[in-house]
Amino acid sequence: MTEVRDTAPARVTPMMEQYVEIKTANPDSLLFYRMGDFYELFFEDAEIASRTLGITLTKRGKHLGEDIPMCGVPVERADDYLQRLIAAGHRVAVCEQTEDPKEAKKRGAKSVVRRDVVRLVTPGTLTEDALLEPRRANLLVAVARARAETGGFAFGLAHVDVSTGAFAVGEAAAETIGAALARLDPAEILVPEALVAELAPATAETRAAVTPAARDLTDPARADARLAGHFGVATADAFGALTRAELTAAATVVGYLERTQLASRPPLARPVREGRGATMEIDAATRANLELTRTLGGDREGSLLSVIDACVTAGGSRLLASRLAGPLTDVAAIARRHDAVEAFVEAPDRRRAVRAALRAAPDLARAAQRIAFGRGGPRDLAAIRDALKAAEQLAARIDGLAEEGAEIAGVASTLARADHALARDLKAALADDLPLLKRDGGFVRPGASRELDEARSLRDESRKVIAQLQAGYADATDVRTLRIKHNNVLGYFIEVPQQHGERLLKPPHGETFVHRQTMAGAMRFTTTELGDLERRIGEAGDTALKLELDLFETLAARVSAGWDGLAACAGALAVLDVTAGLAEVAVDCGHARPHLDASLDFKLEGARHPVVERALKSAGKPFVPNDVALSEPELDAGLVQLVTGPNMGGKSTYLRQAALCAVLAQAGAFVPAKAAHIGVVDRLYSRVGAADDLARGRSTFMVEMVETAAILNTAGPRSLVILDEIGRGTATFDGLSIAWAAIEHLHEVNRCRSLFATHFHELTALARRLGRLRNATVRVKEWKGEVVFLHEVAPGVADRSYGIQVAKLAGLPPSVVRRAKAVLDELEAADRASPVERMIDDLPLFAATRPKPEAGPDPLAEALDAIDPDELTPKGALEALYRLKALQKE
Ligand code: ATP
Repeated sequence: MTEVRDTAPARVTPMMEQYVEIKTANPDSLLFYRMGDFYELFFEDAEIASRTLGITLTKRGKHLGEDIPMCGVPVERADDYLQRLIAAGHRVAVCEQTEDPKEAKKRGAKSVVRRDVVRLVTPGTLTEDALLEPRRANLLVAVARARAETGGFAFGLAHVDVSTGAFAVGEAAAETIGAALARLDPAEILVPEALVAELAPATAETRAAVTPAARDLTDPARADARLAGHFGVATADAFGALTRAELTAAATVVGYLERTQLASRPPLARPVREGRGATMEIDAATRANLELTRTLGGDREGSLLSVIDACVTAGGSRLLASRLAGPLTDVAAIARRHDAVEAFVEAPDRRRAVRAALRAAPDLARAAQRIAFGRGGPRDLAAIRDALKAAEQLAARIDGLAEEGAEIAGVASTLARADHALARDLKAALADDLPLLKRDGGFVRPGASRELDEARSLRDESRKVIAQLQAGYADATDVRTLRIKHNNVLGYFIEVPQQHGERLLKPPHGETFVHRQTMAGAMRFTTTELGDLERRIGEAGDTALKLELDLFETLAARVSAGWDGLAACAGALAVLDVTAGLAEVAVDCGHARPHLDASLDFKLEGARHPVVERALKSAGKPFVPNDVALSEPELDAGLVQLVTGPNMGGKSTYLRQAALCAVLAQAGAFVPAKAAHIGVVDRLYSRVGAADDLARGRSTFMVEMVETAAILNTAGPRSLVILDEIGRGTATFDGLSIAWAAIEHLHEVNRCRSLFATHFHELTALARRLGRLRNATVRVKEWKGEVVFLHEVAPGVADRSYGIQVAKLAGLPPSVVRRAKAVLDELEAADRASPVERMIDDLPLFAATRPKPEAGPDPLAEALDAIDPDELTPKGALEALYRLKALQKE
């Protein structure tokens, strides 16, 4: 190292000058500044890192008269520290030495080793296994806004998984951007600077880090050239007809990767376009509430995903998570997935064989990506070797399992095309035990390269010679404890205890042994012979390592050249794993193939809640199946089913199982029911009233109302709506009135298939007025004053809530239970005279009380809507302002 430490106050050392320059260029990141075997952090970065990582804060010299706070992390363990910093919400700029320190020395003793930032580590750009969750995709999403061809604005969304190279684009409307982001569950979202505040409500619903994207990254005018340039094609038309918003979003992602991954570019698949409406729209609150991919507490365990994920590979689990997060709406595409699952349900032996072979397939997508990205190691090559071998076996196992054109047939032909020659060559080249890092060497199998074998034997021979030399010196000096050792500073040296060392300094030994160092209790020497040997060993070792690295690069180049094929193979393995896994679950848990079509039907026979069922099963208790019917033959719209019943009776479970069956069916899985007929659901909504206090402390009454408003404003005839005790978070009459009006609105305006659970029993009388409202109740039996929950849903109305019985079960003091009973008796007596019953029949229906639509369009609002601030020149902005003022006067 040639760093010069200048302790003179108020003078900036050349190294600090370099550091400050690099840090100034990367103000938003912690700077990992490479010094030998450490990444050092200075100043405030050091303070942050020391706090976050719990590592010691030290000092290094002075800068402008002040001590420089410093801390460091060893390069070898950098991944671990990076992960913790990223998880804590930081970004890290990795600054490497870009020349050999010896080169710097040639420029003069005081010159500083050249350094450069090679990579910005951000949550959405990770590739290392240590930094990633194996079974979770790690998406980087870019949002762009552009004028849509149909008028107004549309949001473009582009997402890449840098760890696998998957790349897709799509569009969303302003009202659905939140749902679209929630589906992707990104690690990082790039939002144009000007939209950060506007999109904050949508981005805040995700767990992603939000990175503001500067204007030059989000400029629509440069989008085509940037995207085309990245893929080396003449124009982005090569990717099909992308909208302006999609193109801009895709170019933003690509531009950001170029800006953050400086040393090398991650390979990316060509962007796949996801059509609007191709997936069931599910907003963040509904996802959270139904616990689709994680529980309300944030865990995977206990979510719907966790009970249906029987995948044996990480790639399979990632694919299943994305399918579950985005159930399809296209009946034919869903049927193709069901066909594939059915084929495996009906072929148990093949299913078992396929799953056994898949177990031996490592994470091909991520391993191939790291290798092609220049970040891979020998174990990644081995992963590719093993996955390709599994692909070869699997192609044979599934041969003939499906008709041509079916999903499994596509998988079979992809697997059959896997690069078996690469697999063979990797097998021949790689040793059995592999180091993590290629620079450690020793990963090439003996016999794979004659040249390498020669260099290695020379190196290993020399090691034997060292041992002989040590024995010889020990004999000659009569020092049994004489050892030849090695360290990075001295290289090889001879070490003897202090008392013998003094003797070696004098004749006759003094001529052979040259003193190097005196330690506490020991002395170190060298000899000409040892020096020669060291040089020979070093040369042979260097030659061997160079040959190994050359071979690594040759193999890596083959991986890069065949990247598309490997990515396709990884995709096929994942589809196979998901399909066989879902079949396994269907058989184990008794799930049935649902029938899907374009109708508005919704009928489940003997349906169960898969997560509650599993929990009950492990406690040795049975789950009571129930039918769900939200459609009837003669009706042109869905039913509203009003579910009343006691606390703890199973209302929430019943509501949710209906929604979960729709999600599973459209994701391509079988459903926990005896039979199911579902007309495809385009939007799914689920809300829990504040009284249930479920949703992550967000269950204030206001949130409940905002969410209910969103449903009533947007649910359409194909939607499925689940409202659980809406209106409980306020005074009884307020709540009752809101629930009442909401039911009428669902029935009259939204006309969607709906389930509404409530404790306001009065509302059941609405069935007399609303033709498509059906009452259902969860049955209970009273036995010796105790309540027994039957968990059976039957047509009809609950007579009471049994809240006091539940309170008693929960252990409320008997005196409180007695008093509550007395109060309830009084209240019920008074309630019989309540006006609510009478009002149900007398009050005009919702439709009659709806306000008339507002007068014609508002020209000022339209003119405002037509302005795209991102595209305005300063002059254009001024002109627009004058136009708006003029319109206001009109
Ligand atoms: P509350 O009104 O207090 O919110 P609820 O009626 O919504 O209650 P759930 O939360 O759905 O009741 O169910 C309560 C418990 O009853 C569940 O945790 C589960 O253990 C059990 N349960 C629900 N449904 C069934 C069923 N179909 N079969 C067996 N047990 C069930």
